[in-house]
Amino acid sequence: MIGRVDSLVSNVQQGKGTAGQLLTDSSIADELKALLVQAKTINPRGCDAILSRLQSLISFRGSRNSFVFFSQAFGNIDVMQNLLEGVHRFQQRAFGREKEMFRRLSREGQKPHTLFITCADSRVVAEMITQSKPGDLLVIKNIGNIVPPPDPDGSCSSTGAGIEFAVEVLGVSDIVVCGHSQCGAISALMESNGGPAELKHLRKWISLAEPVRQTIEREYNHLKTEAERIRAAEEENVLFSIERLQLYPCVSKKLRDGTLRLHGWFFKIATAELFAYDPEQRQFQLITEILPGPESR
Ligand SMILES: [Zn+2]
Repeated sequence: MIGRVDSLVSNVQQGKGTAGQLLTDSSIADELKALLVQAKTINPRGCDAILSRLQSLISFRGSRNSFVFFSQAFGNIDVMQNLLEGVHRFQQRAFGREKEMFRRLSREGQKPHTLFITCADSRVVAEMITQSKPGDLLVIKNIGNIVPPPDPDGSCSSTGAGIEFAVEVLGVSDIVVCGHSQCGAISALMESNGGPAELKHLRKWISLAEPVRQTIEREYNHLKTEAERIRAAEEENVLFSIERLQLYPCVSKKLRDGTLRLHGWFFKIATAELFAYDPEQRQFQLITEILPGPESR
C-alpha cells in the first residue's frame, strides 16, 4: 500500500498529475486509512506517532502546502517505523537483560566517571565506541566538539552548563574531548564560510573555533592537500577545546587539586579506531597500541 501511495506521489513529482488532484483523490484517503489499519496490526502498542502523522495528512488534504507536507511526512514514515521497532526491540530484549541496572540507576542516581565531549555527528556514538553502559558517561554532543570560552557572568551555553554540572555537581574524574574524521563543522571552518549565511546560529557557533583555522594557516603550510589540512584542523580542534576547558574555574581548580584529568581523543570513522593525544610525543596515537587491553593485564 505504501508502494501505491509512493507511485502516486511520484507521478505528481514527474508532472503526471497535480498536487491538487492527488490530495482530492478520494482513493488516497482510502489508502491512508488502510495504512492506519496496517500500522496498528504491525505495531499495536507503538504506532501512535505514525497514526497521528497519518491523521494529520488526512486533515491536511486541500490546504495549500499539503503536498509538501504530504511527501515529507511519507518520506519519514519508514524512518519512524524503524525507530518504533527499535523501541520495541529494546523493551522486549535489551531492557530485559539490563532491568536491574536501570532499577539501580533510578534508585541511586547517576554517578558518571567521565564527561565525554564529542561532535553531534550521528556517526560518533560515545557509548558504542567505548562500550560504556548507562550511567558511565555524561555526554555533551555539539557541532564540532567545540568548547566555548567561559563567560564570567555565565552565558546561555549548553556546553558550559554541562561542563560545570559534570565537574562541580557530579564530580567526574576525567574529561574526554573526542574529535573525529570527516567532521562537517571543521570542513566549514576551514572553508572560511562557516556554513550558509542564513544559518546564523551555526555560523556563530563554528566561528568559536576560528583560532584553530588560524593555527593551521600559520603552522601547517607544509601540508599539501586540503584533506591533510582538514585532518590537522580536526586534531588541533581537540587540543584547542582542551585548552579552553582549562579556562573554566571549576576545571582549573580540580586540575590543581589533582582530582581531574583531561584527555584528547580522535575517532576515525572508516576504521572505528580511537587515537589519544600523547603530550610527550605531541601526537595522537592509536589507543590499542599505547594502553594495555584487558587480555594483557
Ligand atoms: Zn563533527
